[in-house]
Amino acid sequence: MRYRIPALILLLLTAASCANVGRFAQVMNPEELSKDELKKLPPETTPEYGFRVGMEVNVPGNKDEILENVDYQFTEFSDCLNITDRGEEARRYTIAVVDGTFRCEYHHGRCNGEYDSDYGLIIVSYKAFNRKGILPVLKHEWAHVYGILRNDHKNLNEVRECTGY
Ligand SMILES: [Zn+2]
Repeated sequence: MRYRIPALILLLLTAASCANVGRFAQVMNPEELSKDELKKLPPETTPEYGFRVGMEVNVPGNKDEILENVDYQFTEFSDCLNITDRGEEARRYTIAVVDGTFRCEYHHGRCNGEYDSDYGLIIVSYKAFNRKGILPVLKHEWAHVYGILRNDHKNLNEVRECTGY
């Protein structure tokens, strides 16, 4: 249909979202990020799905562990939500891993995850205060990317079983 395409583009252009709350010191003083700089991080590629992942130099984790974790999380995410594209939609985004909570336009300016379709960027904290595992909000951001989770989070309860947060 003619009219659906512009509406979809508009939606994609305005789509950007978030998830919040990190380590205490970083919550109080979240890192200021430059999305342009994040896009320039040298990308690594995950072995299974071929996602591009850039990591800030101060991220403490082991690179291979992070890459494998991204693939593992996507397998869990897609199995849980019956996504069958083998990551095609998610591959449009570069995943930027940062050390901790960062400044953003949501959640009172403190986020541990954000996706920005204009930049083709998903930003996630390596670890977040009070949240399990590494890259704890990655599945949450993918749910936004796939249009499963609404930007206003009103259906978060329905997807949290698959996204964790
Ligand atoms: Zn969100």
